[in-house]
Amino acid sequence: MINKPKGTRDILPNESYKWAYVENIANNIFKNYGYKEIRVPVFESTELFARGVGETTDVVQKEMYTFDDKGGRSITLRPEGTAGVVRAYLENGMGSLPSPVKLCYAMPMYRYENVQKGRYREFRQIGAELFGVSSYLADVEIILMADALIKKYNISDVTLNINSIGCKECRKSYQKALKDYINSKIDCYCETCKSRLEKNPMRILDCKEKKCKEANVNAPKILDYLCDECKEHFENVKKALTDAGIKYKVDSSIVRGLDYYSKTVFEFVSDKENYTILAGGRYDGLVEELGGVHTPAIGFAMGEDRLIEVYEKYNKESLVQENTPDVYIANVGEKAEKFVTILSKELRDNDIYVEKDISERSLNAQLKYANKTKAKYSLIIGEDEVETKKAKLKNMENGEEIEIELKSETIIKMIK
Ligand code: ATP
Ligand code: MG
Repeated sequence: MINKPKGTRDILPNESYKWAYVENIANNIFKNYGYKEIRVPVFESTELFARGVGETTDVVQKEMYTFDDKGGRSITLRPEGTAGVVRAYLENGMGSLPSPVKLCYAMPMYRYENVQKGRYREFRQIGAELFGVSSYLADVEIILMADALIKKYNISDVTLNINSIGCKECRKSYQKALKDYINSKIDCYCETCKSRLEKNPMRILDCKEKKCKEANVNAPKILDYLCDECKEHFENVKKALTDAGIKYKVDSSIVRGLDYYSKTVFEFVSDKENYTILAGGRYDGLVEELGGVHTPAIGFAMGEDRLIEVYEKYNKESLVQENTPDVYIANVGEKAEKFVTILSKELRDNDIYVEKDISERSLNAQLKYANKTKAKYSLIIGEDEVETKKAKLKNMENGEEIEIELKSETIIKMIK
């Protein structure tokens, strides 16, 4: 027997509805905020992620599924959604659409990770991207939308952490201070971090190695180095969130795992599980980096797998009830079988969930199966019933039976 690759999961029918449910809720919220779905390829040119996510990030340095295709092109399975969405935005000239352009998606992502709870090699993200607005009001709107999404699931222990990581300008002086700090204790850092020092010292703040985390404790904070514009932007975001009744914490240690962020960054963290469910931020430089004209943008991605895990741990009720048949229609004899095939089709055409026998089982076996499916009602149809066009409809919960006319309209009325 061949097993599934490490870090992947089979999501069986008794669970798959949870993912559909979570995506449905998200789609509803996205609709109310004006986001429209985009679908982009599972694989892209490796260069897109190297440039879009950043050469010195963990994702690019350690986590990508990269291979040469038969034509000799370097291909990578997408590790995140934003780079592909920005590529599609540019390639399809979406910059000329009325601004802002608001896009959303729910897609699988692939990262070669250390597999553990809440960390898989194939996982799904629900995400949103907003293009064309530099005002802090876009940050506020997208955080409100993310907050609405999280609140829908009734998860009580989630904290919103926000930070500003400034723009290119304020980062210049910050990076100098940060480099000096790291250099002063360079021996405390891992080899990857040492190699990042010249190219991208801020990456070191996001390292997951224990010794690097400890060494970073007293590092200078970007918030102390923000330029006037970035400072004002951040103050405005905070004030508007407070006005909207959204609780948040300023966490100056958030730098986010992807290189393209600027100004506002945010994370919704499950305190009990101590992991991030949803994360995002502004990325004003990315569209330009990928060959477009300067276009401010902001977005987030939510980990569906983690959301479902956290939900189930802290809510007694299941995410949604499983779908059970409205009616099981058993048949006895060939004539009845033919009648039931047509009747079932009519009911199904009218949005009724019908189970019927297709295995040519005995009546006894059919009824046993009806019980297992937890059908709400059952009907037994034999030759007599076909002749008289009458049958007994049984309520499977309380055992009550009533005689009804064997017409689809009557059945629909009775069981709806
Ligand atoms: P982390 O610091 O936990 O590795 P990240 O910075 O790599 O997170 P993002 O790339 O911002 O995360 O992805 C957004 C969200 O996607 C995360 O907050 C998380 O919920 C989910 N996610 C990321 N990587 C994985 C994974 N390997 N397995 C399951 N969910 C994931
Ligand atoms: Mg990660």
